[in-house]
Order: sequence, then C-alpha cells, then structure tokens
Amino acid sequence: METLVVDHPLVAHKLTVLRDVNTDSPTFRRLADELVTLLAYEATRQVRTTDVTVNTPVAAAPGVRLAQPYPLVVPILRAGLGMLDGMTRLLPTAEVGFLGMIRNESTLKAETYATRLPDDLSGRQVYVVDPMLATGGTLAAAIEFLFERGADDVTALCLLAAPEGIAHMDEVFAGTDRPIRLVTAALDERLNEHGYIVPGLGDAGDRLYGVV
Ligand code: URA
Repeated sequence: METLVVDHPLVAHKLTVLRDVNTDSPTFRRLADELVTLLAYEATRQVRTTDVTVNTPVAAAPGVRLAQPYPLVVPILRAGLGMLDGMTRLLPTAEVGFLGMIRNESTLKAETYATRLPDDLSGRQVYVVDPMLATGGTLAAAIEFLFERGADDVTALCLLAAPEGIAHMDEVFAGTDRPIRLVTAALDERLNEHGYIVPGLGDAGDRLYGVV
C-alpha cells in the first residue's frame, strides 16, 4: 500500500484542534469536514480524466474533465459519514455507496452488515473514507469487499493512522497487483490495549455524533 501523510501546516493545525479533548462536537464535525477536503485534494491526484477542448471567449483551450465512470465515494458507517460531505464537495459528480462494517465477536473479523453499492465496480476508482485506521481489520475487509465487486483502484482517506493498521493492510494485500493508496493527516505512535490510536483523538464516531 502506498501511504501519503499530508504534510501541510493547515492540516496540522486543524488536526491539533480535532485531537483536543475540549473541542466540542459541532467544531469537531466542521474541522473533520475541512480536513477531508484538504486530504481529498491530495487523494485525487491520480483521478482519471479525459482530454477535452473548450472554447474560451478568445480561443480553443485544451483541458480535462473527470473520466466516466465517475469515481465512487464509500463512507464506512458510522464514522465515515462525517467525512462524506468534505469529499463530495471536491468531487461533486462522484457517486456515493455505503458500507456498514461490524466486528463479529466470535471470529473477531470485520463483516459487512449493510451495503448500498453498485453490483459491478469494474473500472471504477473508489475512495473509501473512514476516520481511523487502527487495527486495519475494517478497512482491509472493506477493500476486499470492493475488490470482489470488481474495483481496480482504491484510495482510503483516514484522518489518522496507526502503524499497526498500515502493517496489517500491507500483510493482507501483499499479493495484489491492484493499486491501494492511503492518504492520512498523521501517522500516530501506536494502538493501546483497547485498540485506540495513541495519542489519537478518541472515538471518532462518538466525537462526531455523540455516544450511542
Ligand atoms: N476507532 C476510533 O474511533 N478511535 C480510535 O482510536 C481507534 C478506532
């Protein structure tokens, strides 16, 4: 997996406020949204385009438009929803699919409990959004699911990542020739014994939507 940690003072500033335990939910949501848009700018560097020509008031000008089929944005429920608007703001023509993942407490593996995705993802570039890459179990299962449906190019956007999660992804996808990229605002130190990223920002879903 190709990993990009976006190194930009605005990203670092917004992430710092996001981490702060005193940041309230409305501010957290707004900042997460802004951060995603900054990450999306980097994450879409390889978005497919087709060459076009437009007429300016002066002359013909060569340019590009997003190629079809349009990219698919897939938030992983629930916390990934907090990253959806920031993504579609930059990619307004993208289609949106939904993937609900839950950990099976017997097998300890992530399983899908809800899907709303096209049956055939052949030729689609897919952008998966999930705030925290912790153990990597959920993201790996989500990407395997997308590959089974035919996706051939997947970019994951995570606000934060842990080294353990990246190592897990590298292990799971070691044999694949399909491109997988990760774009994140920071690579943190480690996971703690409860599976939380350290220093992290706590439970992203709870901080976005409150405790349920
Ligand atoms: N999920 C979260 O919301 N936070 C973490 O630190 C790890 C997983």
